Amino acid sequence: MIRLPPLPTIQEIIRIYGLSARKKLSQNFLLDLNLTRKIIKSAGNLKNCCVVEVGPGPGGLTRSILNTEVDKLIVVEKDARFIPSLEILAAASQGRMKIIQGDILNFDMADVVPLEYARQWQENTPEIHVIGNLPFNVSTPLIIRWLDSISKQCNLWSRGRASMTLTFQKEVAERIIAPPRSEYRCRLSVMCQYLCNVSLKFSIPGKAFVPPPKVDVGVVKFVPRREPLIRQPFGLVERINRHLFHHPNKFCVKSLGTLFPPDREDLIWTMIELSGVGDKLRPFELTNEQVQQLCNAYATIIEQEPDILTYEFRSQKSAKERRQKITRVLALEQRL
Ligand code: SAM
Repeated sequence: MIRLPPLPTIQEIIRIYGLSARKKLSQNFLLDLNLTRKIIKSAGNLKNCCVVEVGPGPGGLTRSILNTEVDKLIVVEKDARFIPSLEILAAASQGRMKIIQGDILNFDMADVVPLEYARQWQENTPEIHVIGNLPFNVSTPLIIRWLDSISKQCNLWSRGRASMTLTFQKEVAERIIAPPRSEYRCRLSVMCQYLCNVSLKFSIPGKAFVPPPKVDVGVVKFVPRREPLIRQPFGLVERINRHLFHHPNKFCVKSLGTLFPPDREDLIWTMIELSGVGDKLRPFELTNEQVQQLCNAYATIIEQEPDILTYEFRSQKSAKERRQKITRVLALEQRL
């Protein structure tokens, strides 16, 4: 076990550098080193690994990562105020830590992870991990973006099936792992599960953070699957799930209806028939395999009728709304 030399505590670092948490950036720091250690432990064995930590802030999790036998640690932090305190850790890290000031939402992690850590997709997972305690408003859009990258094996996932250990608002964590028929089952459940094996490692009470968020936090681990459960383009899977889970508790035929123009109701039934998924199921009851069958059925339909893919229920609706508004304005003008 590698130990960092004696350093000021995180609390002292925060005081010395005046690092108050910014509410606007939803910054909630984890200062309890038992909890940071527990997060790092749930990522797995980091010996000889290359880790990318997103949003290190004042460096609580960062310290726990450096206290393992990690080979290389790259931290990506958006807020420049944290860079001097992170530099103290980098100086103590025996050359293992590199700091990048940047926005993880526009950052290609493959640029900083050396090729020597890469493995072929079909091989075992590479010794590459992503770890982060990000603000809630960043972690959900980010995971969707990364799932897209996993499906295309780009960004960090051009280096193999790198796993991720990330924090989420507890309810979002429950949604990510929700099985069919769970009250939390939603679009996010299917999108995460068709590409990754997901597990909720443990929960952290909100009061453990400084300042405490109003909700508890869940630590979720994602390991990309060798073969995705749905072999269709990410955009298509996303589209089907978006429509399906618009009405999670109504029969699927209702949700699927919004995929097709009003005069092509026949295609709803074609899709149900091709998929073999009965018409008496509700989206929250569907297994990932049944969603796969629906995606495949939709792909068959658009192969024969490509125009269907560009049909947007919402734009139709807003066009209808616009027409109604124009009619109302004209009626008002006539009365004046
Ligand atoms: N990891 C630290 C901890 O556990 O105490 C800080 C956690 S705080 C919830 C989130 C951190 O992510 C902050 O340091 C914030 O500046 C950083 N952050 C927020 N958005 C980011 C982004 N788009 N890219 C990189 N870092 C970001």
